[in-house]
Amino acid sequence: VTGRERLLIIGGDAGGMSAAAQARRRAPADRLEIVAFEKGDYTSYGACGLPYYVAGEMDDPEELVSRTPDEHRSQGIDVRMRHEVIAVDLDARVLRVRDSDAGADRSEPFDQLVFANGAEPIRPRLPGVDAQGVHGIQTIGDGIALREHVVKEHVGDRAVVVGGGYIGLEMAEAMHERGMLVTVIDAGPQPMSTLDEDMGALVAAAIRKIGLELQTETRVQAFETDEDGHVRAVVTEHGTIPADIVVLGTGVRPNVRLARDAGVKIGPSGGVKTDPRMATSVPGVWAAGDCVETFHRISRRPVAIALGTYANKQGRVVGENATGGYATFGGVIGTAITKVCAYEIGRTGLNEEEARDAGFEFVTATIESTTRAHYFDGSPEITVKIVAEKRSGRLLGAQIVGREGAAKRIDVMAAAIWNEMTADEFVQLDLGYAPPFSPVWDPTLIAARKAAAMR
Ligand SMILES: Cc1cc2nc3c(=O)[nH]c(=O)nc-3n(C[C@H](O)[C@H](O)[C@H](O)COP(=O)(O)OP(=O)(O)OC[C@H]3O[C@@H](n4cnc5c(N)ncnc54)[C@H](O)[C@@H]3O)c2cc1C
Repeated sequence: VTGRERLLIIGGDAGGMSAAAQARRRAPADRLEIVAFEKGDYTSYGACGLPYYVAGEMDDPEELVSRTPDEHRSQGIDVRMRHEVIAVDLDARVLRVRDSDAGADRSEPFDQLVFANGAEPIRPRLPGVDAQGVHGIQTIGDGIALREHVVKEHVGDRAVVVGGGYIGLEMAEAMHERGMLVTVIDAGPQPMSTLDEDMGALVAAAIRKIGLELQTETRVQAFETDEDGHVRAVVTEHGTIPADIVVLGTGVRPNVRLARDAGVKIGPSGGVKTDPRMATSVPGVWAAGDCVETFHRISRRPVAIALGTYANKQGRVVGENATGGYATFGGVIGTAITKVCAYEIGRTGLNEEEARDAGFEFVTATIESTTRAHYFDGSPEITVKIVAEKRSGRLLGAQIVGREGAAKRIDVMAAAIWNEMTADEFVQLDLGYAPPFSPVWDPTLIAARKAAAMR
């Protein structure tokens, strides 16, 4: 018996390993034992790179891994791979863990526990969804399976991506770059439903310009298979689309079954309920990452938004608090960026629908400009849209669609929205200018000026 405290972590990716690393920095191994259980084959892998692995940006999937199990072990974190936590007993403070290599279950006692078991993909329950060739994309294993399929068997064939969110579009780009004919299907009026329809329309036009097919307001009804059980077509309400590969980009939801079954409170948005220190409803039990519900600073509502940036920050907060420190997670404003081929997309804060839903009265201002001075050859275009509160002019949200240099401009808008700046105040900001980087009035400033004039 060592008398050490035991911190157990469920899930070995962004949220879990950030918590482990921060806890280890603060507490020596003779005081705190840290064990992370990961049911899969990789730790700290960041699924964010998967589209670029499928596209062929790098050849070794290990390159996606920022820290291997051995690297974690060398830091004094005991990582148990292919160990799935199958039950949590919060009264006895014991986990039931299945070791898939040994084919045996074991009990693991804990003093403190972290839920960092991520999100689960939403798989539409449609006929044929389990056919060969219908790929989800969440783990490195999924990425490897899809890439093998794309590279070895089907270059030049037809791919259908179901769901036009950012993951769907990144996967569409990857398969387009592999030479496949790609169709994106979305049930909504435009792809990228986190943008307003007018900005989504710009994304739709960009996708079509690239040479991808896009079918909006189209629901998938079934997947047709051949006699070998391989997908051959996607059946929609508007017709049948031939497909050799299907990728599901149909979203995720917080993975809360274990936590809920154990008696941990789940919040209204479907994630594990946490306080600002990432403590759950049960003392000594913490949660971080895609499995949690967090607080939206503008709508002032609970939200579950699955982003790696949040998982890393929340994990760090958990590691600090679980070792007697004090840290809080300040909530989110939904900042996200992505790209499809040469087109870049960014969004932050509330879009029109979200602002309305949160009870704000608002104005919107949309401007078109370029990301460099006009005299640069092929000066890339950019459209910026701002949502600002009526009368006060407070910035509530921003969306950007454009080419090179467009998307990362959302960060300056995010900083302003985070700090509750008004459009008037934003216009005064001292932003950098030189012709290769922006016109003399940065596009974000032009948009803010227009919003300020409208309020
Ligand atoms: C294709 C793709 C692209 C993305 N791109 C971006 C991006 O560009 N920017 C961004 O911010 N975010 C992006 N994300 C989201 C980001 O990857 C996630 O938000 C982040 O990985 C969440 O980290 P997490 O640790 O909470 O959960 P996860 O990364 O899902 O990790 C949870 C881990 O828990 C393990 N686990 C689950 N249940 C158990 C159990 N019972 N026992 C043991 N282990 C278990 C899982 O195997 C998994 O490894 C992307 C996601 C995908 C899929």
